[in-house]
Amino acid sequence: MSDEEEAAKVALEGKGLLKGDLDAGRWLFAQPCDFLRGATEIGNLPPPGAPEICFAGRSNVGKSSLVNALTGRNTLARTSNTPGRTQELNFFTLGPKGYPALTLVDLPGYGYARETRTRVEQWTKLVMAYLQGRVVLQRVLVLIDARHGLKDSDHEVMKLLDTTAVSYQVVLTKTDKLKATEVAPRLEEARQGIRRHVAAHPMVIATSSVRGEGIAELRAEIASLADPEAFRYKPGAV
Ligand code: GDP
Repeated sequence: MSDEEEAAKVALEGKGLLKGDLDAGRWLFAQPCDFLRGATEIGNLPPPGAPEICFAGRSNVGKSSLVNALTGRNTLARTSNTPGRTQELNFFTLGPKGYPALTLVDLPGYGYARETRTRVEQWTKLVMAYLQGRVVLQRVLVLIDARHGLKDSDHEVMKLLDTTAVSYQVVLTKTDKLKATEVAPRLEEARQGIRRHVAAHPMVIATSSVRGEGIAELRAEIASLADPEAFRYKPGAV
């Protein structure tokens, strides 16, 4: 087991999760992951299939990098989104060949400083239509840059999420840009920040796509939401 996995194992055990969850996460994210569809309007979403996990965050928060780090691929999700480009929900399937265990959904970024009111309204309309109607959606991961913490636009989005029936969880990104001693206080700050949001999951996960911190832990967390039937394809499964 690598140092990174060892650290994740200790962190998981502290949260009541076990090595089996880490194995499940590692196995699942080593399965084929394919781009399914990009949807610019609610009418062309793929039909609901496997359980969905969706990634939300301000532009430049490191969303594409995190999806790529989780799936171990460099080019799956496009990095460095150009602010202002077409708002699109991107769908990826993950799971053993012929058996999608999970659909990953990359939401368009929000909170770009020069965003026009019309674009904010378009984002809200598209994303809310998706969130409210998507029965297979298990969780929204709200990504927050560890250096900046929760911004007004994050609170706005979390307020919207509070009005939907979907649970969401905060994931800190780019922790490698902090000093080691700064991570715990930033995690605590984020935990305090989400207290006022009713639908927020209390556990915050700190990640770095560059150094891999928190990636094994996040994979395990996501794997716990996948279709359990898919794990029958995992070697050693009974
Ligand atoms: P997106 O707009 O949210 O999809 O963000 P990207 O994934 O394109 O990342 C935005 C910028 O942050 C890029 O320059 C990435 O290289 C950088 N970045 C993303 N994740 C990390 C990370 O974990 N650590 C560091 N140091 N930089 C990161």
